[in-house]
Amino acid sequence: MGNYQICDFCGNLSEKTSRKMCKSCEDAYLKIRSIVEVYPDTMVIDISKQTGISASKILAFARNGYFVLKEGTIEGLE
Ligand SMILES: [Zn+2]
Repeated sequence: MGNYQICDFCGNLSEKTSRKMCKSCEDAYLKIRSIVEVYPDTMVIDISKQTGISASKILAFARNGYFVLKEGTIEGLE
C-alpha cells in the first residue's frame, strides 16, 4: 500500500509514477509531446486527430502546466 495514486486526469487509481498521472495518461502525454517537439505548430485539434486523444484531455494537460497553450497550438516545456 502507499504505492498508489489517483490520476489527476482520468481519476483512475494507478501505481505511482514520476508524474501525477496514471500510465495510460502518461502514455498519452508522451505521445502528444513527441508530436509537439517535432511539429510545434500543430493545432490541438490536429494532435487530437493524429493521436486519438480528445482535445479536452490535451487542454487538460496544458491547464496543468505540462504544455503552454498558444492560440490553438501547444508548446512543450523543458
Ligand atoms: Zn489517468
